[in-house]
Amino acid sequence: MDNIRRGNKQLIKELNRAIVINTILNYGPVSRTRISEFTDLGLSTVSNIVADLIKKELIYETGEEESSGGRRAILLEFNCNDRFVLGIKIGLDGIVIGLVNMKSKILSRHFIPSPVNSNEKIVLEVLIKVIRDLINKNHIQTEKIVGCGIGVSGLVNQKKGMLVFSKILGWKEVRFKELLEKEFDFPVFVDKDVNALTLAEKRFGVGKEINNFICITIGKGVGAGIVINGDIYHGRHGGAGDFGHIIIDKDGPLCYCGKQGCLEAFASDQFIINKIKEALSNRQDTIIKDLLKKKEDLDSITVNTVIEAAQKGDIISKKIFQEVGRVGIK
Ligand SMILES: [Zn+2]
Repeated sequence: MDNIRRGNKQLIKELNRAIVINTILNYGPVSRTRISEFTDLGLSTVSNIVADLIKKELIYETGEEESSGGRRAILLEFNCNDRFVLGIKIGLDGIVIGLVNMKSKILSRHFIPSPVNSNEKIVLEVLIKVIRDLINKNHIQTEKIVGCGIGVSGLVNQKKGMLVFSKILGWKEVRFKELLEKEFDFPVFVDKDVNALTLAEKRFGVGKEINNFICITIGKGVGAGIVINGDIYHGRHGGAGDFGHIIIDKDGPLCYCGKQGCLEAFASDQFIINKIKEALSNRQDTIIKDLLKKKEDLDSITVNTVIEAAQKGDIISKKIFQEVGRVGIK
């Protein structure tokens, strides 16, 4: 019982600290009184947390609040260039690694081409090397990195920081958190790429003022991130929002997952590309080839080529998008 109580106390302390940090990040320069008003935390709790954050040089005092009378409050600002975060996205096209400051400004980024079919061990080795290079290149001490977030395509066990399975990448049980935390001192967090994107929309994008929404991505696959009461909803097994492999037509095209007629088999980039190639082989009238660098190089067709053609009024391309948008409505 005592352990639970102690655990709860520590958790509340950490939560309050996170709330204060986020308030300064989002609203700074801001006074202690305003933080207390924004967060509903008592002024003495806020002052204690602030004192500790100043001691650790995470925040600093800057100027005074405009006042129409009475004592002017001192404003607090985040020391955004003293601590850094690493963001990593692992997808079909490759791995993007970015180093950002505490205001999420990208300071440096690195791209590693497609990891598909690479052995997970090799990918992790490359990842470790690139992280080290990025830290060295930017002359940053490793202890100044407060954390590393990884967004990866596939089913993720968020607690263990492990990619359970990714059909697209051909990987299973990749223990990113465990292995990277052995190499570096900072904590590593792993989630599905669409959840990381949804979190970015919540923090910086269209979801900023909204507490309940769904963010849908249609690209190599089809997926969704779900925000409930301001937080990402992961579901019991971490698969909430994985609706790309719902079968919408059991006689539909074969999906890479092995099943037939999944939503993803109809509405993903590959379906669009296959459709336009089919139209070309049927000699239908389309401007697609005019948009390619080499007219006969059909392998260079991407979904962006089809988008460009549709925007230029190509009827076949427009029809394909109409078909994709109508999927399931019969
Ligand atoms: Zn499927």
